[in-house]
Amino acid sequence: MSQGIVHLVGAGPGDPGLMTRRSLELIAAADAILYDRLIPPGALDGARADAELRYVGKEPGAPAMEQQEISALLVDLGRAGKRVVRLKGGDPFVFGRGGEEAEALATGGVPFEVVPGVTAGVAAPAYAGIPVTHRDAASAVAFVTGHEDPAKQGSALDWSALAHFPGTLVFYMGIGNLPGVAARLTAAGRAPDEPAAVVASGTLPGQTVVAGTLANIAERVAGAGVRPPAVTVAGPVAGLRDTLAWLERRPLHGEVVAVTRARAQAGELAARLRAVGAEVLEAPAIRIEPRRVEPPDLGAYSLVCLTSPNGVRLLFEALRDVGADARAFVGAIVAAIGPGTAAELERHGIRADVVPERFVAEALLEALRHVPIEGRRVLVARAAGARDVLPDGLRERGAEVDVVALYDTVAEPLDEARLEALGRATYVTFTSSSTVRFFLKGGGRVGAARVVSIGPVTSATLREHGIEPHLEAAQHDLDGLVRAIVEDVRR
Ligand code: SAH
Repeated sequence: MSQGIVHLVGAGPGDPGLMTRRSLELIAAADAILYDRLIPPGALDGARADAELRYVGKEPGAPAMEQQEISALLVDLGRAGKRVVRLKGGDPFVFGRGGEEAEALATGGVPFEVVPGVTAGVAAPAYAGIPVTHRDAASAVAFVTGHEDPAKQGSALDWSALAHFPGTLVFYMGIGNLPGVAARLTAAGRAPDEPAAVVASGTLPGQTVVAGTLANIAERVAGAGVRPPAVTVAGPVAGLRDTLAWLERRPLHGEVVAVTRARAQAGELAARLRAVGAEVLEAPAIRIEPRRVEPPDLGAYSLVCLTSPNGVRLLFEALRDVGADARAFVGAIVAAIGPGTAAELERHGIRADVVPERFVAEALLEALRHVPIEGRRVLVARAAGARDVLPDGLRERGAEVDVVALYDTVAEPLDEARLEALGRATYVTFTSSSTVRFFLKGGGRVGAARVVSIGPVTSATLREHGIEPHLEAAQHDLDGLVRAIVEDVRR
């Protein structure tokens, strides 16, 4: 049996983009993942389908797995030869009890690795525009745990030393402890008018910041109905937020934008929207249903056109089923309809010869104009029921075109959770007529959200379904779509 190993991995403070590359690699390879409550949404998406995923965190009010039990379980899994990821919020060695788990592993003779994470005490202030150190305002920073257990208050912390600490204080703790902490600090000599800020759900879409002074922060936080998790920052740096707040100033901050494209295609639009500050709800109402096909004899074609990443994936699966691989393409010119399709080809060892700048069949035809195809055989591998623009256009140029339909796109009903989440959307985006049809078929409703269409064809389909789009992108691509929303918000 191969030797097991336990990776104590930090998952960062909540924004999935702040997970480290190493954490994602290990999650993808793990046999077993033991995780806590405060890990980023979607953190486990990359886990193997057969990995054992186990929640071992605390639910407020519910019994938690004892720390000793968790440590014992890690040792057992390690001894059983498993690759284990112990995934924790933030950094595993900053108030994460990672130290205790590492001790148990060391004692148990189980090899382990520590993967640091971005800790909430640095990241949440940073997203609130507060640098925890600053050349003029703070030369030191202390990370302090404000005990969750009120019975222990006062026993472990030296309040006088903290009050006199020459730098920023960052408290990791439940919000309920804030009045006590602020009072003890000022009683021990910290200036009541020192700037203080509480950052709740830092780096997450619902991040909230309450700013004030040590004297009034507890009252303000109570008034604002702030919910955990939260960190409290005390020190002159907390005052820099007035100038340095940046998150709230991004154009789509506070907007909730629904993306209705198929999961496989949603990522690009979602990333662009997040980059300008939107919270993105993915509501894919389309699913890919592969068809069982005999792999075409690729060697017989001068040109092979692929029109989606899914098509590429399924074509390679069909090849693999008969023991073939990328060498089957030998001699053929390979065209991809867009960058996503080209990237998927590259993953399978093929660099596309032709990729148009715009992501439509017409543009691919245009890009192929210098490729000699008259009298030659061309294969178009694509979804069933796709438009015939590409094969027809190629035939017009004298090619002998075969079309292979690798999959069907079918409506996927949106689940309860997604339908409910859609109620929060301030914008719902449609990037094609099929997204309109599938979204509505899948039970999706636009509700009070503003409806955004990528162009006139999609708008017409919306109207056919009784929905008048509020916005139509002037430029009919993803950039144009995002720009239309940004301009709408500005208005
Ligand atoms: N190991 C973690 C801390 C675990 S202790 C880390 O390095 O970040 C849990 C405490 O972390 C919470 O009570 C809260 O004070 C803080 N915390 C975790 N995630 C947070 C977030 N997204 N925003 C603000 N505080 C957070």
